[in-house]
Amino acid sequence: MSNLENLYREIILDHYRSPRNRGELATPPAHKVEGFNPLCGDEVTVYLDVQDGILHDIKLTGHGCSISQSSSSLMSAAVKGKPLADVRATIETFKELMMAHGTNLDEEETDSANLRALGELAALAGVVKFPVRIKCATLAWNTLQQGLQEIAS
Ligand code: ZN
Repeated sequence: MSNLENLYREIILDHYRSPRNRGELATPPAHKVEGFNPLCGDEVTVYLDVQDGILHDIKLTGHGCSISQSSSSLMSAAVKGKPLADVRATIETFKELMMAHGTNLDEEETDSANLRALGELAALAGVVKFPVRIKCATLAWNTLQQGLQEIAS
């Protein structure tokens, strides 16, 4: 295993063991949205506090495999306090990363500017090697996207 894979594994385990932004927000004013991945049994509930076009606060609860739960923790850390436009852009970038099925993430790719821009989220890049795990990794992100759509409508 390469040093990079070791680092990524450490990041995922760290977020699984010490999830960021864990908890609930009062609804209302916060918006609550739930996601479920029947393939693996992963569940995630996302609480969104949007004020003046900014994702002022985000909290999550849920349970499931280490990939689904660490991905939700990584997501919350990446989007909290950001303008909604930035949040949407991060969702898109992450989902593009997850759609890179079948491509082997070699050193060259993992060093790409796109992946560097993702910061710790890049730790989940290795998941694309295991297609069954992609739904685990994207669960929280799809749930967040659904919540933003519900708020906007
Ligand atoms: Zn899972």
